[in-house]
Amino acid sequence: RTVYLNGDYLSEEDAKISIFDRSFLMADGVYEVTSVLGGKLIDFAGHATRLERSLSELGMQKPEAFDDLLEIHRELVRLNEIDEGMIYLQVSRGSAGDRDFAYPSDDVKPTLVLFTQSKPGLADNPAAKVGIKIISIEDQRWGRRDIKTTQLLYPSMGKMMAKAAGCDDAWMVEDGNVTEGTSNNAYIVKGNTIITRHLGNEILHGITRAAVLRFAKEAQMKVEERSFSIEEAQGADEAFITSASTFVMPVVEVDGAAIGTGKPGNIAARLREIYLDESRKAAI
Ligand code: PMP
Repeated sequence: RTVYLNGDYLSEEDAKISIFDRSFLMADGVYEVTSVLGGKLIDFAGHATRLERSLSELGMQKPEAFDDLLEIHRELVRLNEIDEGMIYLQVSRGSAGDRDFAYPSDDVKPTLVLFTQSKPGLADNPAAKVGIKIISIEDQRWGRRDIKTTQLLYPSMGKMMAKAAGCDDAWMVEDGNVTEGTSNNAYIVKGNTIITRHLGNEILHGITRAAVLRFAKEAQMKVEERSFSIEEAQGADEAFITSASTFVMPVVEVDGAAIGTGKPGNIAARLREIYLDESRKAAI
């Protein structure tokens, strides 16, 4: 695989980062994942805009190559012959050559890394036909989940807790309400109404979420952006998640209780189809 590191395209074995890099020592880094369908980028502009915001919220410098990111993504797709998959991008505050809690001075340049993940069949994921099972766990993350940092240990633990319980993923709960999934936004459906938590510091502002809500409104579905509890989810007609790598994925069970009929719901299936169609059309 050919990867990108600070201006160079290298084979993955040759891409080396300092042991003092603040992403490694302090999780002082932000990231984005952009999916690729038919060799083209889905929602690139949304991911670039969110990256810029994450950097600015953390007072991190923009990498010098920021304006070339589209070109770099495309070059990696070309070099690695990606038809379906993802491009992972990470910016770290860089390496000051030692460990220090204080941020380094501005002459320390951020580290920029991108690599591809080939996933043939990503759009045809068989899980979308049967749906996924969710457990709920307490949300123990920090308070700025709107910033897409590489601080992912708790979400990883959540994923492992889900697997240990024979499920696929976990929804995190704070003050009695669902915040989001370990790596996705959470939704329930009641009748023709789609309910998903309002934006704030408590959740990541999903790029897929923004697109799906727009398509839902265009398809005359109702959208309510508000909190919901696990109990309300268990009594809903449908549930689903969204993310750049799963698109729209039906949820059929929450904490052992079947949602609706226990099969993927019509609205989730329809939104998945619309999202994939429209995203392919708009891909660049
Ligand atoms: N919430 C969290 C915690 C996530 O990690 C992700 C995926 N990175 C999402 C939501 C979904 O965001 P997006 O649609 O931009 O992939």
